[in-house]
Parts: sequence; C-alpha cells; structure tokens
Amino acid sequence: MICSKFRVWLLLTPLILWLALFPGSLLAQISKPAWDDPRIEARVDELLKQMTLEEKVGQLVQRTAFGGVTGVGGGGTGWPEASRGEVGSLFNLTAPEQINTVQRAAVEKSRLHIPMLFGLDVIHGFRTTFPVPLAMAATWDPNLVERASRIAAEEASSSGLRWTFSPMVDIARDARWGRIVEGAGEDPYLGAIMARAYVRGYQGQRLHAPDSLAACAKHYVGYGAAEGGRDYNTVDMSERTLRQVYLPPFKAAVEEGVATVMSAFNSLNGVPASANPFTLNRILRGEWNFRGFVVSDYTSIAELIPHGLANEGPTAARKALLAGVDMDMESKLYTNLIQLVRSGAVAEAAVDDAARRVLRVKFALGLFDHPYAPETPQPAAIKPEYLEAARTVAEKSLVLLKNDGVTSGGPALPIGAQVRTLALIGPLADSAEDMLGPWHTSQANPKGVITLRAALSERAQRSGIQLIYARGTEIWGESDSGFAEAVSAARQADLVVLALGEDAFSSGEAGSRTRLDLPGNQAGLLAAVAQTGKPAALVLFNGRPLVLTSVLPHVSALLEAWFPGVEAGPALARALFGDVNPGGKLTVTFPRTVGQEPLYYNAFNTGRPAEGIDLSHRPMNAAERFHSRYIDELNAPLFPFGYGLSYTQFAYSPLTLSTRALSARELNSGSDASLRVSAEVKNAGNRAGEEVVQCYIREQGGSVVRPVRELKGFQRVTLAAGESKRVEFTLGRDELALWNIDMQEVVEPARVTVWIGPNAWQGSEAEIEVE
Ligand code: BGC
Repeated sequence: MICSKFRVWLLLTPLILWLALFPGSLLAQISKPAWDDPRIEARVDELLKQMTLEEKVGQLVQRTAFGGVTGVGGGGTGWPEASRGEVGSLFNLTAPEQINTVQRAAVEKSRLHIPMLFGLDVIHGFRTTFPVPLAMAATWDPNLVERASRIAAEEASSSGLRWTFSPMVDIARDARWGRIVEGAGEDPYLGAIMARAYVRGYQGQRLHAPDSLAACAKHYVGYGAAEGGRDYNTVDMSERTLRQVYLPPFKAAVEEGVATVMSAFNSLNGVPASANPFTLNRILRGEWNFRGFVVSDYTSIAELIPHGLANEGPTAARKALLAGVDMDMESKLYTNLIQLVRSGAVAEAAVDDAARRVLRVKFALGLFDHPYAPETPQPAAIKPEYLEAARTVAEKSLVLLKNDGVTSGGPALPIGAQVRTLALIGPLADSAEDMLGPWHTSQANPKGVITLRAALSERAQRSGIQLIYARGTEIWGESDSGFAEAVSAARQADLVVLALGEDAFSSGEAGSRTRLDLPGNQAGLLAAVAQTGKPAALVLFNGRPLVLTSVLPHVSALLEAWFPGVEAGPALARALFGDVNPGGKLTVTFPRTVGQEPLYYNAFNTGRPAEGIDLSHRPMNAAERFHSRYIDELNAPLFPFGYGLSYTQFAYSPLTLSTRALSARELNSGSDASLRVSAEVKNAGNRAGEEVVQCYIREQGGSVVRPVRELKGFQRVTLAAGESKRVEFTLGRDELALWNIDMQEVVEPARVTVWIGPNAWQGSEAEIEVE
C-alpha cells in the first residue's frame, strides 16, 4: 500500500514541479482542441458507417443563405436540403430563430440527425465592431487581439453561429491590394503571433463550449502576393519565399489548433490554391498534421474553370477534392462527387476522408450535444465592458506618424490649453458607416458608432472650447464648393483637426487601387486649409498604407487612425487631447510613391545595394547609377515597418549579450542554447508612454541570402516619465533557423547582427557568430 502510494508520488513529482514552474503551460495544452480524441474518432467512425454516399457528400456542401430563409416560425423547414441531409453547412444567417429553424430540419428530420454548422465572416467583431484587423495588428498586443476575438465569439455564438471565416493571416507586402486591411500586415513573425491570438480568442478554452467559434485561417495560400496588387491575380513565388514568408502564420494557426482552413482564389506557381495538392495535402496535412477541414473560398472550385484547370464542373470538383479541399463553398459542384464515385473516377475513400474531417470538427464543437442557439431576446445595447474593450483596442491601434512643433510653442499634439477654438474639417469627421471598415457584420449598427465629430463636440463643450465643423468635400468628390466654408473655419481656429482618407470600401475585397493618394479632391482641400497658415493635425482613416509624401508638408501632426470601429470618436478624442498617449506602430511599410510597391522592410540586400549613394537626385555618373535604385525616387519608404511616435521620447541603451557565439550543430541537434539580448529602454520625456520594443536580426554568410532585417521579438512596454526598463529577447533555434539551399529548415553558420530598437530602421546593434 505504502509502496504503491509512494510510486504514485514519484510519478507525479515531475508533473507537479513542472506545473509549479510553468503554471500556464498545462492550460495552454488543454485549451487546444484535442484533434486525436479517441472518443470523437469513435463517434465519427460509427456515424460514417451508417452514411450513404449521398449523405457523406452532403456534409461537403456549403451554401450561403443571403437574405435569410423562408418558413421561419411557420413550421416550414426554411432550407429543404437540410432535412434531406444534402447540405453540411450554411452561412450568412445571423438570427437565432432562422438558424434554429434550419438546424431543427437537419437534426430532427434528416435520416441521421446530423447537425449543420453555421458560419459567418466575423472579421473584427460581431455586434461590437473593433478596429479593422490591420489596426488591431498595429497595437502589437496579442492579448488585446485575443480579447477582441473572444468577445466576437461570445456575441456570435449567442446567435447560433459556431464558425467564423477568420483570421485572415495572409502576408501582404503590396499596399495596392485592398485586402491588406484584413490581415496583420507584412511580417511573418508578427503575423504568426497574431494568428495564434485570434485562434485562441475565437476557439476559447474549449472548442466544445457553446460560446466558442471554430476559427478559419485564410486564404491558404499566397493570396496576398497577387501580381500588381490586383485582387484574385496570379501568384508566382519560390518555394523558399512561400515557406519563409507566407506559410508561417498558417502553420502557427495550425499549431494553435485552428479547426478549419480556407483555400484561396489565386493560382500559386501555376496551380490554383483550391486544387493544390502540394500546399494542401503535402504541407498542411502531411507536414503539419492538420486534422480539421479545408473549405474552399467562395465559388473558388467553380473558378478552376476560368483558371483553365478544368473544362467542366465535375472535373473541377474532382481536382479540388483530390487536392484536399473538403468543403465546397457555394460552387454547387460537390454534388457531382456522387456520380464521380459511382463511375470510379473518384475513390469513395476520398469522400470518406473529407466527410470524416467535417464531422470531426462538428463533434469537437459539441454540435451533436447542443445543436441549438438559445432564443433569448438579445439585449438592446452592447455590453459596456465590450464597448470599453473596443475603445481600448482603438486607442492602442493609433499610430502617431508626425508631431512637429508649432509656432505657439511645443508639438501640435496633444491639444493644449492654448487652443480655445478648434476647427474640425473633412469628410471622415462624421461618417459613422466608414468607421466600421469594409467588413463588419450585419449586426454592427452604424447608429451605435460615435464619430470623431460627436466625441470632439462633447469634449469641446466640457472644456469650454469652441468647435467649428466643416465637411469641406466628399471622400471621392471633385467639387470644391465646400472649400470656402472649411477655410473660414480654419481661419477662426487655433488648431485645425483634419479628418481625411479613404472611405471603407476603398479597401477590402476587390478594393485594389493603382493610386494611393487621398481620394477625390481631399488633397485640394488640404492645400486650401494649409494656405491659412493655421497649424493642422491630420487624422487619417484608411485600410492600407497611403502615399502621404505631398500631404506631410501641409500638416504639423499626423495620427494614423485606420478604421477604428464603434468607439472611433472617444478613442480619437482621448488621444488628441492627451488622455492617452499613442503607442501603436505600423505593421506595413508606407511608400513614398506607388512605383515603389511592393515595398516591405524584410527585403534582400541585392549585390548592388545603394547604401551610401545620394539618391535624392538623378544619377550624375556611373558610380551613382549602377545600383539597385530608382533614378527618380529614393529607395526608402516614407515610414518604415515598426514606425510610430509618442508624446514622449524613448532612448535605447547599447545591447547586453549573454554570449558572442552559438553552435549551429548543437542547435540543429535539439540544444536549447540561446542568445539572450537586452537593452535598457528609457522614457526620456515628461509623460508616461508605451513603446513597442522590437528585436531584429540579419544573418550573413549562409547557403542562401537573407533579408536585411527580420523581426524576431517584440514587447509593448509602459514606462512612466523618466522610468527605465531592461527589455530582453531570447534568440534560439526557432529564431535563427532558415530554409536553406536544400530546402531544409536548419540553423546555419552565419554572422548574425542583432538590433533592439523602435522600428525597422533604427536601434542599438551588436554582432554574434553562429559557428
Ligand atoms: C472571401 C472570403 C470570405 C468568403 C465568404 C470570399 O469572397 O474571399 O474571405 O470568407 O467570401 O464570405
């Protein structure tokens, strides 16, 4: 007895010690869905055995229900295919009564009572609209992103939805591409961290819990590299770039337990992503062991025909299924699989595999145990704590891009006591709908949005400031009839706040642009206001980097606001008046001119870098000319990746290193040796602020060329005035590994430069050797 008790303790001791040391680690393990749960596998097998071929194919069909369903409340089935088991998933319903009506048909009337999975594009909030994803990334705060997606999951699941087509984890290096707004920007490291945060938030502690959503990492893969930034366009890239840049956020999502992946519209190296066995079967399933299911993007299986990969629907269906696409979103082609199996063109086992994956996710979600949404009436108002979270995320996503001194003294922002009259000018100052971005749900109510005008009016009244508002022009308009009123408002003011930029639909899907300037005649309005000589702070609303080269000289301050969501106004007013200090940083490079695109910080150096050459004029001789450069523009962007100012200033000390050498051989054989590198970061100003401290590396001398800088760590820290903090990063195997000349992910001997700094251009630097 004593003996066996002792044995138990002996066995448990390492676990207890481990838990004491790493209390979060067990939780992290448990919170990920157990994709190998034998109980689920047994239930799936049991069900599959009873299913006809038609029923199995039915699970692979997804339809959209735009405009709702019929027969709701009147005992109708709403969606007759549901009761016949011909459809496995429906999306775009948001009312619980409608969802339940269809679900009842599936669960109560279909032969095997298999529940349907209801999905929606819940991209940055369901009822509570958070800032657009590009803005959320600019917080550099994965905890906030996780919180936002948890709130989205709680709201959406209470309507009966259990699946969101989010996160979009496409790397985007080209500002012309409108969908850059939907992702985390240009960097694979940051993109991977944000991908994990979204998945954790949506899927929650347990996917089985009724308030969890299955997440969907999209668009797999390479979609963001569309040629010329034109949506849906061709993508061609090396396998190394694919693995090094575009795959990491997807891999991170899979490691975090993401339940589904969406195959993209684009072709990749000659093969459409929705029929690509290399990326789907080999990498996603073979290399990463992804156990959830793959859904095609909207009609992307039917689009195999215009791509030129199939000449008719059945072939498109066969190629997509065999490449690894389990569910057909709205192409209505997977019903052909029945005939294809009967004729022997497709093995039934392939259909079984796809159905198994879909059912696995349905079981993991607990849909068989609790298929219905509660039909309790939704509260009329959004929960106050959700609105507060939306405001916090919006505040933290603001990026201060310029803040020069004005003639009256200090910097233009924050608005000081000397400002007694404020002019608010521009077509985005009072546009509630645009604040919600290009992709909010139908449950997001523009009437609930507090605009900048509303928030500033309230604030001005409270502070005894006079606020004069003038719209000035339309976002895309050409008329200058509003200019005179705007100029008159500016003349009366001590400070002008301009609210300019794009409307929400200038970015988003199919929102590609060839010009990245302020739309319409907003530049004209800006010039007219600037003529007054009054100091101006520009609040910019946009879903992508814009070309601000000719805008900057006209303004003293520039605050990048993106599309901040339902709490746009309060967040901005608080930042403009200095109640909060902007601390967001860009996760996308801002070009000087469109011709520089695609433009991203982690580029290769080339054999003829233009370092040390004066690029500000046309080359005058061979020594100036024969470099990788433009003859009419600088190579440098206007604002680099990672850039963002604050109302205070931060100073970085030289680096402290734990070692000057690491062994590639040891790291490759599993050693957890690492370099610990740190810098003291000091708030050298006189107000509290937040700094995103960034760690970059460059590796030289290996078997392949490496980027001039690569992000390998970051921390957003809060520092009181005068306070210092030592910020440390650990660089080990994961951070130093690269895809080498033999396409293996290994650490190679190299000289490694390390930076810790405030953006991709600056920082304290040191060097180590990986031998
Ligand atoms: C988009 C996807 C989206 C799907 C469903 C497609 O047009 O590319 O991102 O999830 O529609 O709405």
